Amino acid sequence: MDYIRDLIRDIPDFPKKGIMFKDITPVLSDIKALRLSIDEMTKPYVNQDIDVVVGIESRGFIFGAPMADKLNAAFVPIRKPDKLPWKTQKVQYQLEYGTDSLEIHTDAINEGDNVLIVDDLLATGGTAEAACELVAKIKGTIKGLAVLVELEFLKGREKLNPYNVHSIVKY
Ligand code: AMP
Repeated sequence: MDYIRDLIRDIPDFPKKGIMFKDITPVLSDIKALRLSIDEMTKPYVNQDIDVVVGIESRGFIFGAPMADKLNAAFVPIRKPDKLPWKTQKVQYQLEYGTDSLEIHTDAINEGDNVLIVDDLLATGGTAEAACELVAKIKGTIKGLAVLVELEFLKGREKLNPYNVHSIVKY
C-alpha cells in the first residue's frame, strides 16, 4: 500500500488554517494506483452479497461507482442539500462550527438491501455516521464502510461502531 501512500499529498492549512488536507488527486492521476485503490477497497466485500454501493459526495462517487461495477451492485449517491431532484430523506450532522446535512433519494434502496458505504477519507466520522443514519432511515442493511484514507488519530471509527470499517492507508 506504500505505492498509494506515497502519492497522497499533504496540503497544510486547506481549506482553512489548522487543517492538513490529504490530497488524493495524484492517486486518481496514476491509473495503477487508482485501480489498486478500487481493488483493495472492494476486496473484503466481494462475497458479502452487496446490493447497493452508496457513495458520499463528491470523492466517494469516484471510488464508489467502479466498486459497484466490481460487486455487480447498484450505485446510489448521497449528496449535499438541494442537489437531488426527487423525494429525499435528509440527515443533519454536527460540524466543528455549525451543522451540515446530507440527502438520499427515498426510493434509492429497497428495504433489506445490503449496502456498502464509500468515501475517500474518514476523519472525525461525522459524515460517515450521517450516511449510515440515512441508509438506516430508508431501511438498508449496512454491511460496512470502505474508505481510501483513515485519519486514525481523530477516532472516527469509534462513531461507526458496530459497523465494519475498512481503510487502505492510515495516518
Ligand atoms: P469527517 O466527517 O470529519 O469524517 O470528514 C470526512 C469528509 O470530509 C470526507 O468526505 C473527506 O473527503 C473530507 N475531509 C475531512 N478531513 C479531511 C482531510 N484532512 N483531508 C481531506 N479530506 C478531508
